[in-house]
Amino acid sequence: PLLRPVPESEAELAFEGALRPQSLSEFVGQRKVRGQLELLLKAAALQNRTPDHILLAGPPGLGKTTLAMIVAHESGRPLRMSSGPAIQHAGDLAALLSSLTPGEILFIDEIHRMARSAEEMLYLAMEDFRIDIMVGKGAGATSIPLELAPFTLVGATTRSGLLPNPLRDRFGFTAHLEFYDNAELEQVLRRAAQLLELPIDGRALAEIAGRCRGTPRIANRLLRRVRDYALVHGSDAGLTAVHAALELYDVDPLGLDRLDRAVMEILLTRFDGGPVGLNTLAVSVGEESETVESVVEPFLVRIGLITRTPRGRVATREAWQHFGLTPRSQEGL
Ligand code: ATP
Repeated sequence: PLLRPVPESEAELAFEGALRPQSLSEFVGQRKVRGQLELLLKAAALQNRTPDHILLAGPPGLGKTTLAMIVAHESGRPLRMSSGPAIQHAGDLAALLSSLTPGEILFIDEIHRMARSAEEMLYLAMEDFRIDIMVGKGAGATSIPLELAPFTLVGATTRSGLLPNPLRDRFGFTAHLEFYDNAELEQVLRRAAQLLELPIDGRALAEIAGRCRGTPRIANRLLRRVRDYALVHGSDAGLTAVHAALELYDVDPLGLDRLDRAVMEILLTRFDGGPVGLNTLAVSVGEESETVESVVEPFLVRIGLITRTPRGRVATREAWQHFGLTPRSQEGL
């Protein structure tokens, strides 16, 4: 299932691809992670060896796939892309690993969704560049060791907590990607507008930056809607076009999307602001609890609309204000 209702039309994907930064210096924000990656890649290059395995953790759309591509590009190595859901058996992984060329970068997106049996095979592959292939069944079964070409695994996950410790420990480095602040998002947008040859003023960029959920992917998508609006109305891409386009697409002043709003409204109206357990919330909005926990909740916590307590999720005073509601316990006061 999709982690988020993303309209991944071909045009949308091509658009994303065209805007992807190719090098660490073009990659906006995440200064710490950039510095860490740079050091890791340079050290490997000096010693003429494959870089250590890298785990990229964080909510969707913050640049995990982009960073994996940059790692390959900067180290001048080919990139092979796969994903956890595509690896449902140890055999799928064995086929993938044994076909890698020496020094290749293997990107596995949503690595926490890989089959258990494949995870175990991956431990040995990451550590010793070797796998054991089981042949036969029952008492006659034997394992045949298979040497692999050295490779660098770049894993991406929205849920690093779901990875078993032995797997997590085998990454030389884990990068935690954070939501972007408004100044960084303006930079992402300015770069994208230049690539699209779209003249747009600073106030319009700031307005979009404030409404994109701290997420470059959403920033680029909103920019595209504003461009559509200006094109169709023969206007410039100024503040008026931004307001009109964002209103048309129901983008909330805080950047909350449909699912964020559904979670907040249920928490406020049905549970009077909580505390309420994550699973109950997820069931009430008809989503998987994994999605609510890894995609919806981090942003709502970051902007101060909910807090996590041992008894469950609680709406803050700002949340009541933002939605213009009053707790039942305070009604009539
Ligand atoms: P998912 O896990 O959902 O695939 P992701 O974290 O891999 O998401 P990307 O696909 O790498 O996200 O990024 C989404 C889009 O955002 C890309 O098209 C890229 O152009 C843009 N983007 C992401 N991070 C940055 C950045 N730091 N600077 C500029 N553009 C960025």
